[in-house]
Amino acid sequence: MTSPDPQHEEISVGRAIWRGLKCRCPNCGKGRLFHHYLEQVESCSMCGEPLAYYKGGIFVPLVVITVVITIAAIAMLIIELQGQGSPLLHLYAVVPPSIVIPLLLLPSAKGGIVGLMWSKGWSDEQDR
Ligand SMILES: [Zn+2]
Repeated sequence: MTSPDPQHEEISVGRAIWRGLKCRCPNCGKGRLFHHYLEQVESCSMCGEPLAYYKGGIFVPLVVITVVITIAAIAMLIIELQGQGSPLLHLYAVVPPSIVIPLLLLPSAKGGIVGLMWSKGWSDEQDR
């Protein structure tokens, strides 16, 4: 698995995803991937790698929703298995994390998907 640009060192898909999960440039791992909460930079400030055309689109919320639903389902199952299945407990144990966890996961999930797309060369360059 190599980067799409042959002048760069070879970076594995896993390393590119890991750098993206840390919200860093998948190429160098030093430059920031976002300059606001989820607003992607045009290019890396450290290595100049163009990053604006690697967009996760609807895949980012799909990944985050899948993770949140899994966590909520496990929490509800644990509550039910302990015999404490009151509706109010479900409300307090599931609703606040279901709001907070996606807000915390979105930047890293988007970064990881951008890292995957960057390593595979799946860009939206036709949008230029
Ligand atoms: Zn960079």
